[in-house]
Amino acid sequence: VTGPGERQVDSLCPFCGVGCQLSFQIEKAPGGERIVSVDGRDGPANHGRLCVKGRFGFDYVASPERLTVPLVRKPGAPKRPVFGRVPANWREQFREASWDEALEIAGGGLAAIRDGTDGHPVHGPRALAGFGSAKGSNEEAYLFQKLVRTGFGSNNVDHCTRLCHASSVAALLEGIGSGAVSNQVADVMQAGLIFVIGANPTVNHPVAATWIKNAARRGAKLVVADPRRTELARHATRVLQFRPDTDVALLDAMLHTIIAEGLVDEAFVRERTRDFDALRKAVAHCSPEAMAPVCGIPAELIREVARDYARSRASMILWGMGISQHVHGTDNARCLIALALVTGQIGRPGTGLHPLRGQNNVQGASDAGLIPMMLPDYHRVGDAQAAAAFERAWGMALDREPGLTVVEIMNAALAGEIRGLYVMGENPAMSDPDLHHARAALASLEMLVVQDIFPTETAVLADVILPASAFPEKTGSFTNTDRIVQLARQALQPPGQARQDLAILVDIARRLGLDWTYAHPREVFEEMRGLMPSIHGISWERLEREGAVTYPCPDETSSGEPVVFRERFPTADGRGRFVPALPSPGAELPDADWPMTLITGRQLEHWHTGAMTRRATVLDAIEPHPTVSLNPRDLAVLGLAAGERIRVASRRGEIALVARADDGVPVGSVFIPFAYAEAAANLLTHPALDPFGKIPGFKHCAVRVTAI
Ligand code: SF4
Repeated sequence: VTGPGERQVDSLCPFCGVGCQLSFQIEKAPGGERIVSVDGRDGPANHGRLCVKGRFGFDYVASPERLTVPLVRKPGAPKRPVFGRVPANWREQFREASWDEALEIAGGGLAAIRDGTDGHPVHGPRALAGFGSAKGSNEEAYLFQKLVRTGFGSNNVDHCTRLCHASSVAALLEGIGSGAVSNQVADVMQAGLIFVIGANPTVNHPVAATWIKNAARRGAKLVVADPRRTELARHATRVLQFRPDTDVALLDAMLHTIIAEGLVDEAFVRERTRDFDALRKAVAHCSPEAMAPVCGIPAELIREVARDYARSRASMILWGMGISQHVHGTDNARCLIALALVTGQIGRPGTGLHPLRGQNNVQGASDAGLIPMMLPDYHRVGDAQAAAAFERAWGMALDREPGLTVVEIMNAALAGEIRGLYVMGENPAMSDPDLHHARAALASLEMLVVQDIFPTETAVLADVILPASAFPEKTGSFTNTDRIVQLARQALQPPGQARQDLAILVDIARRLGLDWTYAHPREVFEEMRGLMPSIHGISWERLEREGAVTYPCPDETSSGEPVVFRERFPTADGRGRFVPALPSPGAELPDADWPMTLITGRQLEHWHTGAMTRRATVLDAIEPHPTVSLNPRDLAVLGLAAGERIRVASRRGEIALVARADDGVPVGSVFIPFAYAEAAANLLTHPALDPFGKIPGFKHCAVRVTAI
């Protein structure tokens, strides 16, 4: 950090969903300008605070590995998946092209598959798909889904929410009619009890974690439930280190206790919910004594936590991927919703349900309709009235059938049913489960168009690579985990011939026959708010003036609603619905050959597939190598030592990493961050999906650990 720059640009952090406001300090540099340092601003989510990623994770923008010119694959150049880091000679498979030529090949290739003009028997709108990005702005997400729906002609559009909170959203929409959070993170300061389950906010939402720790310091009871003992547990009143993948057993036992001990909020259940009897019957046999052997938490401790949660004047639940990334992730979230409904712990300050969002714009991208079953503002694609409204606005008929989700698109590609894919800013060759399968699927595509800032593991399999803009190189609105819409402002120019994503999208759309003329994100946002009642009261001018506005915001006089569901839920009858769930086994349990459980996740310094943070000098210097964490007792039993390189294998692949001793990892489990291409955790993960949210179970599969 070199101190204040020659000019300052107020913007946002490009990493997690907390949505910290910051200022880029800019100074002149050879060939242009550069960011020299970052300061936290007094935004609603961070009040000047930043974590190590926000403060030091910015010089990836100036990496010499940036894509700066359009590239097209040379005729006959083989598509070989990369295992390990992308090699320095990756460009040998490509030649440089002008923007016109690259767009013509990309747009023309996609149009030919759509129209069947290439003579291939598999063609049509559903032979194409698109992955947008939760790292892009609201305007980019909206345009991307509009392009797929109107330019491709199908709903085969998705993004990383499918790998993140898709199961939470499925349960929330089903139970209370809205997939967004009910209360903002800072509301923990109003809570008497905070229940954090399946989340590691100190690492993944560090500034949000500071609110939780402050609330605990001020006297709120903090219950931390997670198979791993995380740093937040040091601040907790009670710690429930339950067995991996037994969330439903633990939560059903809490529900049983609340019902059996008369702790139900009878008036709330009577007046604001339905189907309580179904829940009561379902959990009748899930006593703490019955569930304790399953989840590994003593029955009396389960009872005490259930009582505390129900009796507190205000209890708030926050959860993360530990709940959602399971083949029964939707069931896990259903139980959390039931806890809030049965006790009336929702609709007031300091209560409610908060699925902590991962990417900085995964909330906004989902709101904007970047998902295969929903139009913007969560109108189902099969809802005739809603679809007709979008058809009128967009000027063409829309597909009324839900499209395929991320992993389903990969399966369809490998089966030859999807031949063309447009990927903007995602890296499925690292983020999908069972990477041998995912990379084979990507390599099998006849037209893979990748728009990105780096030669990612996905980009090297592309037919056309379109060099795009990094976060500080563009202006746009972003929606954080709290439903706060905020403005990020352009600080730098993209390098070389790289262009802004929004402009590239417009040019691809034109090649697909759409007459788009959007020249600025403002125009896109104004179109969005005309179609999305949730943000109707948020004008672009208002964002420029106020910097941050919470939705729902019905009109320009509204200051937004930080706490929702005060009087009714946005369901057909205004009531919340109990959807019971019972414990069930995962897709792959440990056995004699594969005796340990793999838990994947993130670490503080690296962000998701590492494309940005592993090119950020300070962050990569702190955590430069892939590691696998094991309990010291397991290391001893296996005859291994911390610091030793070891092998972790599953039925799908194997990787080598450095062993790390961590007594927070439960005996019988290993924890591997998924940011490292040279030891990609997702080579091991299982591709089975949650049947409702269609999310893979990244948090649970069977592995074997051996010496090398
Ligand atoms: Fe960025 Fe999240 Fe850290 Fe805030 S908490 S600085 S948004 S990574």
